[in-house]
Amino acid sequence: RAKKSLKTNFEYYAPEMEEQTTWRLDMIRQLRNDFGERKLQLWYQPQIDLVTQKIIGMEALLRWPSTDGGFVSPAVFVPLAEYSGLIIDIGAWVMQEACEKLRLLTNEGFTNLRMAVNISMPQFRDPAFIELVKTAITDNALAPECIELEITESIVMDEPQLVIDVLHELKAFGVKVALDDFGTGFSSMSYLQQLPLDRLKVDRAFVNEISPNKSAFIAETIVTLGGKLGLRTIAEGIEKPEQANYLLKLGCDEAQGFMYAKPMPFDALLVFIAQEAKKDA
Ligand code: C2E
Ligand code: MG
Ligand code: MG
Ligand code: MG
Repeated sequence: RAKKSLKTNFEYYAPEMEEQTTWRLDMIRQLRNDFGERKLQLWYQPQIDLVTQKIIGMEALLRWPSTDGGFVSPAVFVPLAEYSGLIIDIGAWVMQEACEKLRLLTNEGFTNLRMAVNISMPQFRDPAFIELVKTAITDNALAPECIELEITESIVMDEPQLVIDVLHELKAFGVKVALDDFGTGFSSMSYLQQLPLDRLKVDRAFVNEISPNKSAFIAETIVTLGGKLGLRTIAEGIEKPEQANYLLKLGCDEAQGFMYAKPMPFDALLVFIAQEAKKDA
């Protein structure tokens, strides 16, 4: 995505684009600096089993604190990190950090949880990628099945054979694979069958369409497709009980959304999981 828009800058020159380029380079410089100073954070959003209502895991999400006390949106800085190549080092840190935190949860007695980690295309092109995933898992004595890689359709379409090969090798090691934001890109059905997938993530945009008087036919189609492909399905962006109920009726397996919990720092996650465990006791 970032690559394409930069190309546009060269093709059609306009002064405001030069400004944009300066802004972009400035952001990249700041990001590199802040990452070097260990200022990036990893937050976690719980994932819930729709049937049992129990926490089954979490998705790790990058947070970049900004000078005004808020955060720069990952939707803004992740593409810059991808374009600049910084995502290779940042992504390696994310993988290690996520594995370390899952180890801490296991030590606290919370076993059988899954940690989902988002992966970008440049990471697939990194020859060290497969090894660093394996090392992060074994260094923390985790079962590989507890780590799930989230990839998007655009990654697959970018360089299908490379992505398929890398995923098959990691899959043989034991890690799980989820197709994120499903339905928002253009994945070919034939790739869907060649990828070693475990889960389809129904994008928030389609969950959003679910309301009391409306049928949400795309969400329904994705859940049905997942079932036919033998995959589990998880819906993201659930904000209302009626959305959860509808998805449960469709046969969707899992849920993630503000209705259950927003992304939170690790300490808060630990409290959240401990409280949920008490409810069950
Ligand atoms: P994503 O992987 O699809 O992550 C889900 C996004 O939906 C997160 O946004 C999450 O905060 C948001 N979300 C979850 N439930 C709800 C809800 O009920 N309502 C609303 N409005 N939003 C909800 P976030 O954290 O801003 O991340 C945006 C994107 O940035 C991610 O989308 C992912 O593509 C990328 N990203 C984040 N962390 C990483 C990372 O470590 N590596 C890579 N490569 N990409 C990352
Ligand atoms: Mg994701
Ligand atoms: Mg998503
Ligand atoms: Mg999304």
